[in-house]
Amino acid sequence: MTFVKLTKNKKNIQFREKVMELAGDDVIKCYQCGECSGGCPEAAAMDLLPNIVMHKIQLGDESVLDSNTFWICSSCLVCSARCPKGIDIAKVMESLREIKLRSKKSYVELESLSKQELEELPQIALISSFKKQTQ
Ligand code: SF4
Ligand code: SF4
Repeated sequence: MTFVKLTKNKKNIQFREKVMELAGDDVIKCYQCGECSGGCPEAAAMDLLPNIVMHKIQLGDESVLDSNTFWICSSCLVCSARCPKGIDIAKVMESLREIKLRSKKSYVELESLSKQELEELPQIALISSFKKQTQ
């Protein structure tokens, strides 16, 4: 049986509660089976696997906000469908994006893209990226 250690630190608890409020789901139910990560088609590009993200949220570890995982996540819902505890992990990823975006920082600057990039990158990808990663 897997035991998950939870934080008792107030600041960490506040962060965990915030994620759960936005996601509308209870990350504490996660027992680290790894099914989400095992099925994630984007896992190879992520610096933290989805189950590790879940564990960090359980601990209230805000360093998870420095991860690229929730930006890489394509919201395909495979993880949510595979989770034996019924956690909507894709929504948890969305809540992390939301928290990060609310911190008023842009992650894609139009000015930083070269003329060639602007010509070659698919327009739909650019628009989606601006919607997701900028203020
Ligand atoms: S929703 Fe995101 S985290 Fe879940 S399987 Fe798809 S890409 Fe991976
Ligand atoms: S599939 Fe669900 S229970 Fe298993 S590690 Fe992922 S979030 Fe946790």
